[in-house]
Amino acid sequence: MNRRAMFLEVLGIPAEWVPRKAPVTAVAEAPLAETIVMAEASEVVKVAAMAEAAESVKSVDSTEVATPPMTADNFDTPDAGDAAEIAETVEAFDTPARAAAPAVPILRQSNPEQDGRDAAIAAMDWPTLAASVAGCTDCGLCATRTNTVFGVGDQRAEWMLVGEAPGENEDLQGEPFVGQAGKLLDNMLAALGLARDRNVYIANVLKCRPPGNRNPEPDEVAQCEPYLKRQIALIKPKVIVVLGRFAAQSLLRSTTPIGKLRGTVHTYEGIPVVVTYHPAYLLRTLTDKARAWEDLCLAREVLNRAGAQA
Ligand code: SF4
Repeated sequence: MNRRAMFLEVLGIPAEWVPRKAPVTAVAEAPLAETIVMAEASEVVKVAAMAEAAESVKSVDSTEVATPPMTADNFDTPDAGDAAEIAETVEAFDTPARAAAPAVPILRQSNPEQDGRDAAIAAMDWPTLAASVAGCTDCGLCATRTNTVFGVGDQRAEWMLVGEAPGENEDLQGEPFVGQAGKLLDNMLAALGLARDRNVYIANVLKCRPPGNRNPEPDEVAQCEPYLKRQIALIKPKVIVVLGRFAAQSLLRSTTPIGKLRGTVHTYEGIPVVVTYHPAYLLRTLTDKARAWEDLCLAREVLNRAGAQA
């Protein structure tokens, strides 16, 4: 059984699937409104080389992965005993209120105080940055958090994953993507030879949990994003995989639905960005796990191409 078939079998997708042909043209987003501060932070541009990479995904076969052997253990999916936790996780990321609420891009007026804070964060080293996040009270989320969730992984990783915000388990444990969603994410990463303790870095747009897992407010994102921006600058990943609609729309300053953001290579701070679904959503939507795998293959292709050009 090849890697792809094994992946699908363990994920519970019965039928063989064929990777969808990726679009060959990157999406050029409309210019940002003048009121958007930090406009340099993100742009979606045509990247001819990346489009070529996307095109080449159609020929990518999972047997090409030069990574540790894939075993059934890599794709161990949650068992029936995990159902309650899965339901709770999925509910947190899939309530009608969340589905209806748009992920609003950052809109913040520039002022000297904010600019000074952002500049200070942009100059921090890892220890200073971690300490700053741990003690941060710069938005209202500090009042309800249990722990800040700074990020985890290899600080020199070529892969970086960015999610939305800590959930209940993450808030309690102080680590991103734990619980069943984290387990699924780890299993999917393992298929690419990646592990959070070895060669990938995982962080969120927000470092503190929004109460009740509500959508983050634009001002909360604006206050917290400089931390993520600094993490990315320090890591210098070769590819960023953005997990979920909110994180994607926040990072890319877009209101485009996630389904249309997928399959195209965007950029953030000059770094290629690939968008995929949030693992909590994938726990419920089996068919979209195959699409998530396509996205990870696209990211891998982007990274391989970047390595070949280095
Ligand atoms: S969410 Fe970010 S900006 Fe707000 S208190 Fe937490 S670390 Fe600070």
